[in-house]
Amino acid sequence: MSDLLERLRSRGWRMTSQRRVVAEVLAGDHVHLTADEVHARAVERLPEIARATVYNTLGELVALGEVVEFSTDGRAKRYDPNAHQAHQHLVCSGCGLIRDVRPAGDPLAVLPAEERFGFAVEKADVTYRGLCPECSAG
Ligand SMILES: [Zn+2]
Ligand SMILES: [Zn+2]
Repeated sequence: MSDLLERLRSRGWRMTSQRRVVAEVLAGDHVHLTADEVHARAVERLPEIARATVYNTLGELVALGEVVEFSTDGRAKRYDPNAHQAHQHLVCSGCGLIRDVRPAGDPLAVLPAEERFGFAVEKADVTYRGLCPECSAG
């Protein structure tokens, strides 16, 4: 569960109505929105919110480490509030639905030493792909 708003409150993040709306739009599970999607949803709640404000707020949340950026297939960057739980992504090749998943086992650990080429490997991003139940039914 992503308790983004609570985390921000407890950090003493200055909560203006505009910032609150951006945080509310991002709150929840399996949330992976592009900046444009965040803006479109924010406008539904607060019609006067400017795109630049949304972008700046997203940048700030990323800098705070409360939201992570990632992209799949070189498409638009997505913003993910599930920043404190290590997870990978399961992406539908049909509709683009994205789920947070936790593999059984550490994806970093499965890379053998001889495949590391002397790197101090810190992080592994794994994307699992396939059709979601709705797309495979259709
Ligand atoms: Zn799908
Ligand atoms: Zn995620």
